[in-house]
Amino acid sequence: MLGRMLEVTNTLTRSRARLTAPAGRPLALYSCGPTVYRYAHIGNLRTFLLADLVRRVLAHDGVEVNAVQNITDVGHLADDRLDHGQDKMLLSAGLEGRSTEEIAEFYTAAYLADAARLNLLPYDAHPRATEHVGAMLQLIARLEAKGHAYDTPDAVYFDVRTFPAYGRLSGNRLSELRPGAGSGSPHKRFHGDFALWRKAGGRRDAAWDSPWGRGFPGWHIECSAMSLALLGDHVDVHLGGVDLAFPHHESEIAQSEAAVGHRVVDVWVHGEHLLSDGRKMSKSAGNFVDLRTLADRGADPLAFRLLCLQARYRAQFNFTLDALLGAERTLRRLRARTAELAAASGPAAPASSPCDLPEALTAGLGTRFSGALHDDLDTPAALRVVHEVAAGEGDAAGLDAARRAALLRRWDAVLGLDLARDAAGGGALPAGASQLLERRDRARAERDWPAADRLRTALARMGVAVVDGPDGTTWTAR
Ligand SMILES: [Zn+2]
Repeated sequence: MLGRMLEVTNTLTRSRARLTAPAGRPLALYSCGPTVYRYAHIGNLRTFLLADLVRRVLAHDGVEVNAVQNITDVGHLADDRLDHGQDKMLLSAGLEGRSTEEIAEFYTAAYLADAARLNLLPYDAHPRATEHVGAMLQLIARLEAKGHAYDTPDAVYFDVRTFPAYGRLSGNRLSELRPGAGSGSPHKRFHGDFALWRKAGGRRDAAWDSPWGRGFPGWHIECSAMSLALLGDHVDVHLGGVDLAFPHHESEIAQSEAAVGHRVVDVWVHGEHLLSDGRKMSKSAGNFVDLRTLADRGADPLAFRLLCLQARYRAQFNFTLDALLGAERTLRRLRARTAELAAASGPAAPASSPCDLPEALTAGLGTRFSGALHDDLDTPAALRVVHEVAAGEGDAAGLDAARRAALLRRWDAVLGLDLARDAAGGGALPAGASQLLERRDRARAERDWPAADRLRTALARMGVAVVDGPDGTTWTAR
């Protein structure tokens, strides 16, 4: 039975949860955003693509969504358990000889450019932490008044032992939480307590006055304050990378629920790591890759989007340049097929509204495509349906070009791969050329150079010029 509604895995309950349209209001979605002291690495971008996919599937289902993604522009430490850790914003500002505001502006703009290149849907709001410090102070005051927070010389801490459910999301138990390396501010009542407000000490940049003295917010309080401010005290789905479940999201639950007195977030969805060289990506590990690096090598950013769709969100996968180039070849092939099919459909290309696709065949394919996505975002299965339609094989055998082109365009609203790009930009491939390009890609992969040369000549006769570069093959059609 294929689901008619999106089901995802809820980390909180360790079971499937349905994301459906709430009565009388849009579905409230919060996605933890970038910390803007450096470029986002492609592991971060994988998480942002997950949130985008959820939004696109919901839109495909006709569910109206109010989507918020924060921008962390103050105070996120390398490891919140290291209370003496340095503020990365300040660290970057010092290294680059710029103010924290300049650093934040620069990397916020860089993130938004990355988001546009990856076809991430624009958010309804992108709150910046520095613009919501007032709301954070109010929230901390509320927590202190209810006995959940205490003031010390180095910070205002959340007293986790006043919130017995602390640890439910991540499966940690308070009794088993061990002191981490350097977790010991002598002022904490319990080593698992976390900072809501840190005292500025000698710091002048990025600090605010507060009832507890001059200082700056802890990272976790930012997301509680901004989600409560922008989405209210009921959030239907909250997304983030798996490494945020603890302590960030665990602490967010404690803060928000202790303040308002009830459950705030229904469904927590966590995306797995993208590995590089078999390890989690980080600057210190030296395996840090950002979208700029890939673009400099001539890679299409949307090939990275496709690469992410080729794996399920709850599975880790290892990023390699070869895999990216493979995804790029596949993307080029899909675009070429879409262009060919559109050209074969005649000048009156079919509209992409569902009523133009009445046949059982297209309905069956549509059900398979949606059903795969509804099944905890089984994107590899959804892509198999896409490839069948592109190739006119399997369930799509016998389906005419116009209907296949219409299906691909409709599904592209969910995939976000710009499949119609070649058709729209002119220079569409002549009929049959994409198969020759595929065969030539295969020949090159098998190092069959004579065959590759023959296919190049054949393509040239069709008016398709092929250029082999260090990162793959590109073509232009006359
Ligand atoms: Zn967050």
